[in-house]
Amino acid sequence: MVLNDLAIREEVKGLCDDDQELAETLVAQRIRATSFHELAHLVQQPLFLDTPPCPSIVDARVADLARWCQEPHSNPVIKFAAGHDAKFIRCLSHVLHRVEERLGLERVPRPIVFDGMGYGLSPLAWYESELAAELQTFDGKLCDLQTLAPPAGFVKLWQRDLTRFIRDLGSLSQIVADLTSAMTLFSREQQCID
Ligand SMILES: [Zn+2]
Repeated sequence: MVLNDLAIREEVKGLCDDDQELAETLVAQRIRATSFHELAHLVQQPLFLDTPPCPSIVDARVADLARWCQEPHSNPVIKFAAGHDAKFIRCLSHVLHRVEERLGLERVPRPIVFDGMGYGLSPLAWYESELAAELQTFDGKLCDLQTLAPPAGFVKLWQRDLTRFIRDLGSLSQIVADLTSAMTLFSREQQCID
């Protein structure tokens, strides 16, 4: 994981005039928020390091990622398909609970960890609220979360968001086209195996 702290410092500059103390606080919050967000991706999608892809695939993926980072991604479908689904939100909620409630780290503002509204979803705090009992009681490995059914209220909130999201998007063919294009980042390894 690489964190671009220079970009983060640049971003907060416009938010706090010359208040250096506030700037340091905002930088620290964003660094923690980004770390926890990416940690949740790692936890719920384990890496398989014993089977490295062939060099040409690595080159192609690096080129894809470089292009991906430079493109504006205003379409929420693309963000949605890039791993920010209910499984991710649930895992992220557990990561935050463990670092804040069990390790005692300072609470990070939710919109900078995962901007639910920007992803066409309800705020992360709403999902956390539906998971409240599970967050308190689940002590297992986070990668094992997928073997347990999530609470009904969490599923209901996700279904409601999904329904609104699809209703607001317009045509089904456009949704399929957007989701397919978002998957190009993840499809090259499959081509290598074939
Ligand atoms: Zn993410």
